[in-house]
Amino acid sequence: MVEGDRLAFVQAISRLVVALREPEPDGVLLRTYFAALHDVEIEFLLAAADRLIGHAQWFPKTSEWRAEAARVEKERVEAQRELLRKLPAPLCLECLDSGWREDASAPVKVLKAFQRNREGTVEAVSVAPGRAPVRRCECQKLRRLELLGRLPSPASYRDAAAPSLGNDELSPDEAASLKTLIERRTGLAIVPRGMPQSWAAKMARRADRDDDHEAEVSNG
Ligand SMILES: [Zn+2]
Repeated sequence: MVEGDRLAFVQAISRLVVALREPEPDGVLLRTYFAALHDVEIEFLLAAADRLIGHAQWFPKTSEWRAEAARVEKERVEAQRELLRKLPAPLCLECLDSGWREDASAPVKVLKAFQRNREGTVEAVSVAPGRAPVRRCECQKLRRLELLGRLPSPASYRDAAAPSLGNDELSPDEAASLKTLIERRTGLAIVPRGMPQSWAAKMARRADRDDDHEAEVSNG
């Protein structure tokens, strides 16, 4: 939660109090609960409160509220994975919805192992990982926002495009309307994969400038 979630949180407590016939909460309880649950996202806490109203016998302890919120999160994560598996095409072409993409510049975790050498003494050896280094794909942030309900579920893209998505390619019109739909719903601009020449030149100039600047800084 962030400070701005305090009102929604207090309103959830009020609903719990009414539903579970608790006495009016005082400021100490509100502050204590807010502090104890501040690391949980408000969306999960609110969904958990609705469930607790449905089945709890008593006003939940912070640990019970946290556990219910964790269940909500786990179920949403599983439902999202299931949905991504069923999509006719991956939402993210960079990582094919795995959430991780290969990146040669990502730090490699070298494992240490111990082995006995010929002289009979034990020595440490480094074991390089068997696959290329990976880093988090940017799409993980989008998937997280969808889980929280701050962005519409990928199901809405699937439904919007369902009539024509199959093994056939999208027609230019369909591709354009899908692009507009995704941009409108996510607020993100979709950039074609091939970068126009003019951009490439601009990026290259910028990279040169950055290099010069770094050189100046290190010289000064
Ligand atoms: Zn991705």
